[in-house]
Amino acid sequence: MTLDIPSVQDLLRFRAVDSYGASRHISALLPALSAAIGHCLPTVMHPDPEADRSALGLPRVDSVVVALVDGLGFWNLVLRVGHAPYLRKLMERQGNDEPIVTTVPSTTPIVLGTFGTGTCPGMTGMVGFTQLNEATGGIGQLISFAGAPDPARLQCQQTIFERLIDDGVRVTSVGLPKFAHSSLTRAALRGGEYRGSLRVERRVEAACQAARTPGITYYYIEDVDKAGHRFGPASDQWAMALENADAQLKALHRSLPSGTLLVITADHGMVAPNSSERIDIARDPALADGVALVGGEPRIVMLYAQRGTQADQLAARWRDRLGERALVLTRYEAIERGFYGQVENRVEPLIGDVVVCAAGLGFIVDSRIQSEESMSLPGMHGSLTRLEREIPCLIDVA
Ligand SMILES: [Zn+2]
Repeated sequence: MTLDIPSVQDLLRFRAVDSYGASRHISALLPALSAAIGHCLPTVMHPDPEADRSALGLPRVDSVVVALVDGLGFWNLVLRVGHAPYLRKLMERQGNDEPIVTTVPSTTPIVLGTFGTGTCPGMTGMVGFTQLNEATGGIGQLISFAGAPDPARLQCQQTIFERLIDDGVRVTSVGLPKFAHSSLTRAALRGGEYRGSLRVERRVEAACQAARTPGITYYYIEDVDKAGHRFGPASDQWAMALENADAQLKALHRSLPSGTLLVITADHGMVAPNSSERIDIARDPALADGVALVGGEPRIVMLYAQRGTQADQLAARWRDRLGERALVLTRYEAIERGFYGQVENRVEPLIGDVVVCAAGLGFIVDSRIQSEESMSLPGMHGSLTRLEREIPCLIDVA
C-alpha cells in the first residue's frame, strides 16, 4: 500500500469538527445509500442525498450491504493492514484511500444515532456515552440505556430504515441475536427485519440471502472494538480480531449476488491511553468543586455544574488546571463549534455545562463512581483526534 502514514503526533492532533452536512461524513452514508438504491431520503442535515452519493463515489445499484466494523478507525486499520489482506486491496483503490469523518463524541451510541437517522447528535438527543436524564436528575448510559429514558422517546427522529420501509423498500439488519431488540437498536437502527445468529457463517449467509432482493442490508461486526478495549489496538488480540473481520468481509463479498454494492465503514477509531496521564476528578478539588454530575466517558467528559456554579467559571478552572492536556469548552462553545450539529431545544440541557476533550493519550476519570477496570482500559475513544474520528468508507461491488 502506498498510503503515507502520518506521524503519531499528527494522528493525535484534533481533527477539525467537520459540518454534519458534509458528504464525507458518517451522517451522509445512509442518505447517500438511499439515493444509490433509487429511494432518495433527504434529511435536515443532508437535503441532497444524490449529491452525497456522488461525492462518496457510490454507484447506483439495486441492493447494498453496509458493513459497520465497530472500533475500526481508518488509521487503526492502516497501521495494521498487514492483518487484513482483503481490506488492504480495497484501500488501494481511489476514493477508498481517504477517510471519512465521524461524530463528536466518537463513540458507538452517538455515532449509530447519527448514522441511523442521517442527522446529528443535537437532533437525536444522543450526545454522550453517559448523559443527564432530566426525568431522574441522574446519569443514564446509552448502550444498555440503564438509567436513561426510553430509547424511542429520547431518539424520536425517524430512522432511515423506518423511512425506507414506509417506501416499501426491503431493510435487513444482520448481527448477533442479542442486538435484535436491544435498546440501542431500538433508538438508532429501528425498522426492517433482524437476522441474528451466533455463527459467522450463518450471518454471512443471511446477508447474502437478503441481498438477493433489492434494498439495504446492515451488517454489524462487534469484535474489533471489544478486543481494542480489552487489550489495546496494538495488541495481538486486536490484530486477530481484525483478521477475523477481514475474513468475514471477504467471505461476504465472495458470496454476495453479483452487482451488490458493499460499503465497509466503522463508527470510530481508538487510542491506547497512557496510564501515567490519567486525571482523576475525585483526587483534585480544583476539578471536583462545583461539579454535580459527570457524564460522557474518559476521552470526552461532560460536567454538569452544581446549582450556583457558573459554567464559564467551572470551565476556566478546568482550563487552568489541565492546560494543554485537554480542550475545555462550555456547552455553548461546544455547540458553537459544531460538535453536535443543529441542536434542538430539548437536547441542549442534556449536554454538560462543560465539555472536556482529552488531548494526546490522556484521559479523565472519577474514581468515586468508576471501577478500576473501567478506568484502566487499554483502548479508549470519544475525543477529537484523527485516530478516533477518521473512519474508513471502503467501496466494493460484488
Ligand atoms: Zn468502544
